[in-house]
Amino acid sequence: MELKNYMENFVLQKMDSVLKLYPGCCDCPQCRQDIAILALNHLPPKYVSTDKGSIYARLEQMSLNYDVEILEEIARAIEVVSEHPRHGNQS
Ligand SMILES: [Zn+2]
Repeated sequence: MELKNYMENFVLQKMDSVLKLYPGCCDCPQCRQDIAILALNHLPPKYVSTDKGSIYARLEQMSLNYDVEILEEIARAIEVVSEHPRHGNQS
């Protein structure tokens, strides 16, 4: 059984464009991962079977339906992570 949560792809795809709006936000791998996790925990998972030929058309539609919600959650996650970054040990 091949299952994938496509919300992951949507969040990762859109993260760069949202990060551009927050020039002060760190975009190191640790912070990016934290942003993705935070956003994904607030978004409904969208599981698809990866062995279906027609998934791409449906995904396109799904992405449009959730566009605003995804962008909002990424922006919120960026704000949280910017305030409490977990990267490095700068002491
Ligand atoms: Zn960082």
